[in-house]
Amino acid sequence: MENVVIIGTGCAGLTAAIYTARANLAPLVLTGIMPGGLLTTTSIVENFPGFPEGVDGYELMTRMQAQAEKFGAKVKFGTVESVDLSAKPIRLVIDGDPVETRTLIIASGAGHKHLDVPGEHELEKKGVTYCATCDGALAPFRNQPLVVVGGGDSACEEANFLTRFGSVVYLVHRRDALRASKIMADRTLANPKIKPIWDSAVTEVLDVAAGKVTGVKLKNLKTGEESVLPCAGLFVAIGHVPNTQLFKGQLALDEAGYFVLGKGMATTVPGVYVAGDCADSVYRQAITAAGMGCAAAIEAERYLAGLDA
Ligand code: NAP
Repeated sequence: MENVVIIGTGCAGLTAAIYTARANLAPLVLTGIMPGGLLTTTSIVENFPGFPEGVDGYELMTRMQAQAEKFGAKVKFGTVESVDLSAKPIRLVIDGDPVETRTLIIASGAGHKHLDVPGEHELEKKGVTYCATCDGALAPFRNQPLVVVGGGDSACEEANFLTRFGSVVYLVHRRDALRASKIMADRTLANPKIKPIWDSAVTEVLDVAAGKVTGVKLKNLKTGEESVLPCAGLFVAIGHVPNTQLFKGQLALDEAGYFVLGKGMATTVPGVYVAGDCADSVYRQAITAAGMGCAAAIEAERYLAGLDA
């Protein structure tokens, strides 16, 4: 039986792993389908304390994993298929194998939100993508017009990154002001290769029959005017949905699907804690996720100490 199982290897999960490993609890840490979490799809992280020059997202996560493993964390490539939180110990099935654990830290993160318009699903990986860092350098995007949708930090970061490859980057946003932090918004609007298209929504991705992205249909939300914007790639950066579906019915979720966070990262089930983007719709930063992972680990340690007393 495990002392601690941690679901997720983003900032929250790996910080919880470092703390519980240093408490000699030898945590079992499951990567899920995206080892390292969403930060691995970012290029330079400029706001993680301690890195004045910025740090590559993938490198930061690799270092966190090495730090956790150095103290005895068992990081395993695996996905939780089912969980029974009513059992004591808690029962999980991980890639077909049953596992029992005394405590569970859920740091399952969040996935990319989709536009849900015609053509988006059909043309995914054929010009529609959710990660400029992963796909921006691909040949079909080089020296071609590209479209980014969204007005947050992610959309701005993606648009700036894509100016290295595209001939022009259109930033399509449903309002007339960016939600992104001021530094990122200013940098984006000052980039001569980025052309903002305000008050507009992508209503369809073209061309499913051609099997590749050739353009997007746009609708101006103020005037109702419709148009077609030719492009070779559509980069969707409109936020995230929390990865909490597995726990529906066992743990409380809010209307957007985020875990409802109790005091001390606790849930309604003793010994089960949540941390990071799956439980935070407000801050969603690498450093806040790390802080939540740290707190969850300390609470799990205290809970185990209470059981053993
Ligand atoms: P976000 O801040 O939630 O922004 C999502 C953007 O997408 C918003 O502009 C929103 O429009 C738009 N949007 C949402 N649903 C849409 C839909 N169905 N159709 C069209 N547009 C839609 O998400 P994010 O940019 O991914 O950032 C998430 C968090 O990570 C934030 O806290 C951000 O600061 C942080 N982050 C930080 C960095 C960095 O510091 N380097 C980089 C990336 C992300 P509205 O504005 O109208 O709501």
